[in-house]
Amino acid sequence: MSILMLFIDGLGLGTDDLGKNPLITAPMPHLRRLLGGAPLTRSIVAGRGGLHEGDTATLVAVDSCLGVPGLPQSATGQTTMLSGVNAAAALGRHLSGLPTPTLVDILRRHSLFKRLVEAGRRATFANPFTAEYFEAVNNGRWRHSATTTAVLSAGLPLRMLEDLHAGRAVFHDVTGETLRERGYDVTTVTPEEAGRRLARLAREHDFVLFEHFLTDKAGHAQDWDAARHWLGVLDALLGGVLAEADLDRTLVMLISDHGNVEDLSVRTHTQNPVPALLIGRGRAQAAANLASLVDVTPAILALLGVEGGTVGG
Ligand SMILES: [Zn+2]
Repeated sequence: MSILMLFIDGLGLGTDDLGKNPLITAPMPHLRRLLGGAPLTRSIVAGRGGLHEGDTATLVAVDSCLGVPGLPQSATGQTTMLSGVNAAAALGRHLSGLPTPTLVDILRRHSLFKRLVEAGRRATFANPFTAEYFEAVNNGRWRHSATTTAVLSAGLPLRMLEDLHAGRAVFHDVTGETLRERGYDVTTVTPEEAGRRLARLAREHDFVLFEHFLTDKAGHAQDWDAARHWLGVLDALLGGVLAEADLDRTLVMLISDHGNVEDLSVRTHTQNPVPALLIGRGRAQAAANLASLVDVTPAILALLGVEGGTVGG
């Protein structure tokens, strides 16, 4: 089987408050159809033990607080999600932004990608990078994120803009529109086509990661228009994925590292649980094993038949 992980930064399960939560009014027909007509809020799983089992999709409320006080953050959340090690507990706090040496070390030793590659599985990161990005890293002006570090820890190559041109990558903004705004000569794609590309990559690999973080940016900016825009784009991407994916052999897993965009009344992250939306093969098994971000890597390893899916602190 294969797993396509759609990692959406800063997307929690919020309340049904129209004045706070853009997921209630954002154009998200595909997601609503999967959830029996309801928007993606915590009321779907309330009183059901954090679980909603639909005809085609299962939704689990996943803890992102990791037993550590304060607001969950990206560096520790992503490291935890992609290593199976509670990085917030290891640091003693939630850490935002880019990973510190402690977190990089956790990823170098325990990265999900490394575990998969060592077990002979084909894993890939669907996002392409620019030469400008590598220049910034090499000049010390930028550091790799937790997700990128997890990929590089496995010795895997990163996709580049040539892969985007060839239809073998999906830029983090889904369509490539922000690349064009930055002056890159790229042809934008529809979100549906981007979703189809991800589904095609999932046919050729055992594990595919796609990362989107403009939801988190919209949350910090408390920008309703941007939030609705990116949520709509992601929903259309999901539509493309579902149209192309072979769900008899592929599990689609949409998940986040912490809440943010679901509550635009604050400019910070939230302590809301995050959604793990599961569609396709193995969704019941995945749902049964996902309670917090620590469980993501072991659950994926178990689904892909890699031994020793659980690692210690
Ligand atoms: Zn953030």
